[in-house]
Amino acid sequence: MERITLRDSKLESVAEKVLSNERLSLDDGLDLFKTNDIVGLGSLADFANRRINGDRVYFSSNQHLNPTNVCILRNVCAFCSFARTPKEDGAYTQSLEETLAEAETASGSPTREFHIVGGLHPKLTLSYYTDLITALKEHHPGVHVKALTAVEIAHLARIEKTSTVDVLTRLKAAGLDTMPGGGAEVFGTGVRSTIAERKLGSAEWIRVHKEAHALDINTNCTMLYGHVETLEDRMEHLNMLRELQDESGGLLAYIPLAFHPDNNDLGRELGLEGTTTSGFDDLKNIAVGRLFLDNVPHVKTHWPMVTPFLSQVALHFGCDDLEGTVVYERVYHDAGAHTPLGMSYEGLIEFIQAAGKTPVERDSRYNTVNEFDSDLTPATV
Ligand code: SF4
Repeated sequence: MERITLRDSKLESVAEKVLSNERLSLDDGLDLFKTNDIVGLGSLADFANRRINGDRVYFSSNQHLNPTNVCILRNVCAFCSFARTPKEDGAYTQSLEETLAEAETASGSPTREFHIVGGLHPKLTLSYYTDLITALKEHHPGVHVKALTAVEIAHLARIEKTSTVDVLTRLKAAGLDTMPGGGAEVFGTGVRSTIAERKLGSAEWIRVHKEAHALDINTNCTMLYGHVETLEDRMEHLNMLRELQDESGGLLAYIPLAFHPDNNDLGRELGLEGTTTSGFDDLKNIAVGRLFLDNVPHVKTHWPMVTPFLSQVALHFGCDDLEGTVVYERVYHDAGAHTPLGMSYEGLIEFIQAAGKTPVERDSRYNTVNEFDSDLTPATV
């Protein structure tokens, strides 16, 4: 029988529910966010995670590609440090050949997934992305492509004057396997109108994900925390994700995203430049996500954002996925992240092993590619 020691008596009723696999309420989630018993919270989340994933920790041998940072919402998303207007210093849009050349980095490593996101370019049409996905699959047979947030899908639908279902269908025909979970930010209208007014609304973000799931395109989901949102906003957001998953079942992983305040309007307005979210809050977001989203199989930390070191600790706070090798991370480094741009395959394995966990290389749908034991030898292929 599992024994979990709690120092906060308010968590006792939540613990009973967790141990008996009962669904948590919004108030339970608030109690979890409010507690200072971080070890008790972590123990509960670790229990919930091990019930689903055992001691397996997933990672992907992946490469991030960001074909353009030109974005029509450059002055809308106050938290974004990545986007540029077309003529602004630092603006770039890669040709197909340039993106493929960048992807060639994969030739010397066992890259099995390309993660592709970027700005909402005013002129790039759907064929730019279908050509890119088709070419990546031709050049790197067997690779998975995880590409384009719901916001980018809706933007392409507007450019093409068609439906988001049509865009998804054509991307899937080109080789799209899964979609990332970005663009969700915080669903509550108050927060959304403060940090990203005029961005795709929460109902539309959820609709696009449901459409993707209906087409057998699995997706991830996210929440951007650490700015103006309240704990109630966080719980409302998580509840909407849980309801989405109850209905369509296509979410693979939840990824809490820490706000980075450098080089963006929101960071300046809040006076947060040069700061980061606290490790305490980072761990709480991972743990509460694991406990509340009982229907989402995986919780991932994006290590370039919260540091590899905190990500390693998070493996005992409900996290079962360390993202991947990444190779070249742009989005959070533009916002002041001081972490490495990528991590080696062997480094990731050792990082997971050092936390006492079993490294499992996965594809973008969480099928096992390699499972490792303690001496870095593939145990299964
Ligand atoms: S968050 Fe995305 S949509 Fe918003 S400005 Fe940045 S790149 Fe554009």
